[in-house]
Amino acid sequence: MAADCLFCKMVSGAIQPNKVYEDNDVLAFRDINPQAPVHVLVIPKRHIATVNDLTDADAALVGKLTLIAKKIAAELGVADSGYRLVSNCNADAGQSVWHIHLHLLGGRGLQWPPG
Ligand code: 5GP
Ligand code: ZN
Repeated sequence: MAADCLFCKMVSGAIQPNKVYEDNDVLAFRDINPQAPVHVLVIPKRHIATVNDLTDADAALVGKLTLIAKKIAAELGVADSGYRLVSNCNADAGQSVWHIHLHLLGGRGLQWPPG
């Protein structure tokens, strides 16, 4: 855990997000500033600052994040209509919280290419 990390505080319970999923390794909660009718953040409980910091040892964890996002998409009713999984890395992508997360966005048509 990183003491000054917002998402680590959600993992510890110091801040309580609007949870949609939790297990030993992963937490998922509603984004506070949703960009679509469904906007959920799926995070590992372990602090990893950026996608650049992932190692080969994290392969199973990264796969798990996607599989859990898939399940949440089905539970929230956007599996068939469609959704987007996005992970922003560093400044050009607009990363603003330095603890990796998958954005699950759905419930409306999403433009491509992204801005
Ligand atoms: P990034 O910009 O790093 O890709 O995504 C960070 C996301 O975290 C943003 O979509 C932002 O709205 C969300 N966020 C920031 N602060 C909070 C918070 O306190 N609670 C929740 N639930 N989401 C947050
Ligand atoms: Zn963290």
